[in-house]
Amino acid sequence: MNRFDNFIAGEWVQGSGTRPNVNPSDTRDIIGDYAQADAVQTGHAIAAAAAAAPTWAASTPQQRFDVLDAVGSELLARREEIGRLLSREEGKTLPEGIGEAHRAAMIFKFFAGEALRAGGETLASVRLGVGVEVLRQPVGVVGLIAPWNFPIAIPAWKIAPALAYGNCVVFKPAELVPGCGWTIADILSRSGLPRGVFNLVMGAGSQVGQAMVDSPLVKAVSFTGSVGVGRRIIASCAQRQAKVQAEMGGKNPLVVLDDADLAVAVNAAVQGAYYSTGQRCTASSRFIVTEGIHDAFVDGVVAKLRALKVDNALLDGTDIGPVVDERQLAQNLKYVEIGRQEGGELAFGGEVLERATPGFYQRPALFTGTTNAMRISREEVFGPVANVVKARDYDEALAIANDTEFGLSAGLCTRSLKHATHFKLHAQAGMVMVNLPTAGVDYHVPFGGSKGSSYGPREQGTYAREFYTTVKTAYSAAG
Ligand code: NAD
Repeated sequence: MNRFDNFIAGEWVQGSGTRPNVNPSDTRDIIGDYAQADAVQTGHAIAAAAAAAPTWAASTPQQRFDVLDAVGSELLARREEIGRLLSREEGKTLPEGIGEAHRAAMIFKFFAGEALRAGGETLASVRLGVGVEVLRQPVGVVGLIAPWNFPIAIPAWKIAPALAYGNCVVFKPAELVPGCGWTIADILSRSGLPRGVFNLVMGAGSQVGQAMVDSPLVKAVSFTGSVGVGRRIIASCAQRQAKVQAEMGGKNPLVVLDDADLAVAVNAAVQGAYYSTGQRCTASSRFIVTEGIHDAFVDGVVAKLRALKVDNALLDGTDIGPVVDERQLAQNLKYVEIGRQEGGELAFGGEVLERATPGFYQRPALFTGTTNAMRISREEVFGPVANVVKARDYDEALAIANDTEFGLSAGLCTRSLKHATHFKLHAQAGMVMVNLPTAGVDYHVPFGGSKGSSYGPREQGTYAREFYTTVKTAYSAAG
């Protein structure tokens, strides 16, 4: 039996149908059939979470620590197996999959510690004989909606803080990658959590996700995914005064100045734009390069791209796995065509590749001779496609980098302390990287963007507390 059920009110339950989880490196390989809930079943999960909310809100920090620490330990012990599952369902390479499973374990460990530290504040009142406390209380039932590109890290960075701060969870993984989310649910089902505190509901965004967004019992929604869906969720939550946090798309610039170390810049560019098949919200997709280093930079990137091995994610030595599915591949190819039609020069790649196993393979693409006004400079492709825009100097490069509706991550390669310092202050992005790829972040510090990329309080690190708690100010007469 390769059937994987939903987890609702402490029980494993079938959905109204199932959906096959297909390996994008080998479409003949079906990982399993995963339950698909409808809106009614999602309602059962929400009701179970609401019923469990008072119990979990009253749990001790030690109980929360024990659950989260146990999940972290099991993820850590099983990271190779879970990393393999991740690579099999999503298509990132095995080292990337194992690395992500490890990161998820660390996130649970981090929030196990935070559960012990989750206090409020005590202040002196401005009035004599009065005490003031700022209490941090759980929000209640939280709805967590994840995208497909980080099948275990993103669920971890939503579920762990939600539970650490005393909330009950209804969690929906992305349709394309339910396996890792199911694995977390399986571990949590054996962790000693009271029934209903954590619920897994797999299924379509339009059914399961929408039911979570619309339910008056769901007091907060944490969403990561595309801009279109995110903006609709923000509007729906605002309408009914639910808390909402949305992490969405990016069009992340990597600025390369004449004084950069060429090898550092080329590495940062190739790592940041093309690894994980370019399917990272923090992936660089615009290289903004000053004239003196332009040709050497392009030559260096093309040479590196030529040497990359694009193949089955589970094979030893694969650098770039497949695109996640047929639809995403079609979108990538459409943007390669758009880039050509707009007058960009395809310096390398972009074409579909045949490999020994049937999958969605694409050679990483680099465009040169593009401007920032072109669609490939403005719209998120979400694949291994990047373009180079020439700039005269640092000031023009910064202006181009900031000329976008997005603001997730921004990078600069330079040896100039002056420009690095200026860039950290003036790049319009939630995360800024100097002489590093735009993708690749730590798990213990805030993660998120600015402008069109993000909405609401930050995720991760101690900053996650802002979203997963509500504040109450309590005054009492001192005697
Ligand atoms: P998506 O918006 O299609 O789906 C994200 C999730 O929302 C899925 O679970 C989906 O089922 C659900 N959903 C769809 N319709 C819904 C609805 N009406 N109501 C509620 N939920 C609904 O995004 P995707 O294709 O899975 O992920 C790719 C996108 O995610 C890219 O734009 C990428 O930049 C973004 N992303 C952002 C971050 C970040 O932190 N900023 C991280 C990873 C991915």
